[in-house]
Amino acid sequence: MSQLIDGKQISKQIKDELKEEVQRLGALGRTACLAVVQVGNDPASSVYVNNKKKACEYIGIGSRSYELPEETTEDELVSLVEELNRDDEVNGILVQLPLPAHIDEDRIIRTISPDKDVDGFHPVSVGRLWIGEKGFLSCTPAGIIQLLKRSGIDICGKECVVIGRSNIVGKPMAALLLRENGTVTVAHSRTENLQDVTKRADILIVAIGKKKFITSEYVKEGAVVIDVGMHRDENNHLCGDVDFNDVEPHTSAITPVPGGVGPMTIAMLMNNCVETIRT
Ligand code: NAP
Repeated sequence: MSQLIDGKQISKQIKDELKEEVQRLGALGRTACLAVVQVGNDPASSVYVNNKKKACEYIGIGSRSYELPEETTEDELVSLVEELNRDDEVNGILVQLPLPAHIDEDRIIRTISPDKDVDGFHPVSVGRLWIGEKGFLSCTPAGIIQLLKRSGIDICGKECVVIGRSNIVGKPMAALLLRENGTVTVAHSRTENLQDVTKRADILIVAIGKKKFITSEYVKEGAVVIDVGMHRDENNHLCGDVDFNDVEPHTSAITPVPGGVGPMTIAMLMNNCVETIRT
């Protein structure tokens, strides 16, 4: 029978560990504060921002909220980020993406000080990840490593196939699996014979952004399947990039959607916030 990888339970465990750590560090006079910046009022972004603030509260991390109007200019946003970079009371800065179309996201990401880049998107954080230096890890891929490790799944020496090469999921995922001594292949929309590639995987990580795309024909018998996707199906239920009902019987372990990868992203964001006061 396949093991259901419970992201809800694992993320709760991580948040509880962080809460204890924050209490210990607080007794030594070290406190963390996350600045969360949102531009405009996209409903999905508001939900994410609220969840991040709630997680801060649960763990004991301070949070400051900056809710800016949709018409905020790029220069105004840059000025705010620069001000937060200089503010000694702020340890982490998170600018909720996506930003309105008139703002260059790359410029904003590059403006955040690498020392406060808790999303791990700054080129310095990305470089540190690839060369194996200490730094902030991109939250969703870091959460997937925790899901695997805490479910007793060994990565070392395993054939790992990542489908997707985005900067926020696929690429950092590949770097982290490599760091854990996996043998890593990254597949994308130009990959030929995708099924042949994915069928090699002992661990298959799916981040395509296409509803129920991965069926059992893509999966080796007994593989571990991690589904990063997040969609609504025809009945308005949440579903992933993997056709769960079709694939699950062929796996040794699999993440559900919801309740798999999703809850881990915030837990790892909180871990990055705590990281700012660890040393
Ligand atoms: P993205 O930027 O759209 O990237 C999708 C990747 O999939 C691209 O690299 C693309 O290849 C590849 N791809 C598309 N169609 C393909 C096909 N037919 N065969 C093989 N590869 C294909 O998406 P993302 O931001 O990485 O997100 C992926 C999914 O994860 C989305 O559903 C998103 O909502 C979800 N997500 C969830 C979380 C979470 O916390 N749970 C966090 C982030 C993202 P090319 O590069 O060649 O175009």
